[in-house]
Amino acid sequence: MFKLTLRILPVFTLISVLATSGLHAADKKNVQPKVINPGPVGGPPSDAIILFDGTDLSKWRSGKKEAGWKVEDGIMEVNGTGGILTKEEFGDVQLHVEGAAPMKVKGKGQGRGNSGVYLQGRYEIQVLDSYENKTYPKGQAGAFYNNFPPLVNASRKPGEWQTYDIIFHAPKPKEDGSVEPGSFTVLHNGVLVQDNVELTGPTSWLVRSPYPAGVVEGSIGLQDHGNPLRYRNIWVRELKTADPLDSPFVKPELPKTVSVPPHVLDAYVGTYGNTRVTREGSRLFVARGGQDRIEVFAVLPRVFECALLDGRYEFLVGESGNIEKMKFTVADGSNTFTKKK
Ligand code: MG
Repeated sequence: MFKLTLRILPVFTLISVLATSGLHAADKKNVQPKVINPGPVGGPPSDAIILFDGTDLSKWRSGKKEAGWKVEDGIMEVNGTGGILTKEEFGDVQLHVEGAAPMKVKGKGQGRGNSGVYLQGRYEIQVLDSYENKTYPKGQAGAFYNNFPPLVNASRKPGEWQTYDIIFHAPKPKEDGSVEPGSFTVLHNGVLVQDNVELTGPTSWLVRSPYPAGVVEGSIGLQDHGNPLRYRNIWVRELKTADPLDSPFVKPELPKTVSVPPHVLDAYVGTYGNTRVTREGSRLFVARGGQDRIEVFAVLPRVFECALLDGRYEFLVGESGNIEKMKFTVADGSNTFTKKK
């Protein structure tokens, strides 16, 4: 049996050298998250696109014309010239908006401090002065308008600045013509008011419309509902689908395995430092210290990984031609242990 092992090992050694000369895909699971500067409380973080920094409306349009809202003292204000839309279009985003209804209360219900934040120009998170202002629940501040009321009414008093932090996953058209639904998560003044609710279609009043066909991106909009809402500090972060090889946010999945015959596995069985390696049929197990054993899977004939965990065991051939060492690698580094005789 041992002779056979020796005949097979040199081939494995070659494969192993080839594989370790480049960065193994599994190592990339440990890519550090990108460092960003979160900025002051309320942002903008350094990786955000600033949609309004208090100076001008250059990022916005009103239909095909330039946006006509009033800009003064770092604030933009609805002035009856119609809703505004970003010139740039977006898919999945994290959006921060700060808004304030007039201090002097005028009107009631939907007529009091009404505006709205639109994603893709068609899905509205309601902006309303909902402080001691009764209206239908699906029309309150923080509602996904006409679809979901806010979980709580977290409104501040009229005149005070309120924050809307919106995480929007856009609907995704699929090849078969159907649409993967989009979703909203919303914090109003830091309080969760929409918890990953599913979109069924664009916001409309009294009717439910289907998703528009083929839309991937769209403008962010602010509604002019005839009330003089003020806005400031508006920024957006694009939530691009991460490249799984460059991102720490990969979904855990079983490593791609190769099959190693039991007689070869037997060459790895033994004790290395405080790690015991055992075989059961065609499966290999490791137990570290006093811990329960876990199964490891061969990604190369001499390299084994844990399922769902970052950890790799590589069995190393010594000068004798036999397995003499085991190299254990985790995110923070590696250690090599000699096999106990
Ligand atoms: Mg509205």
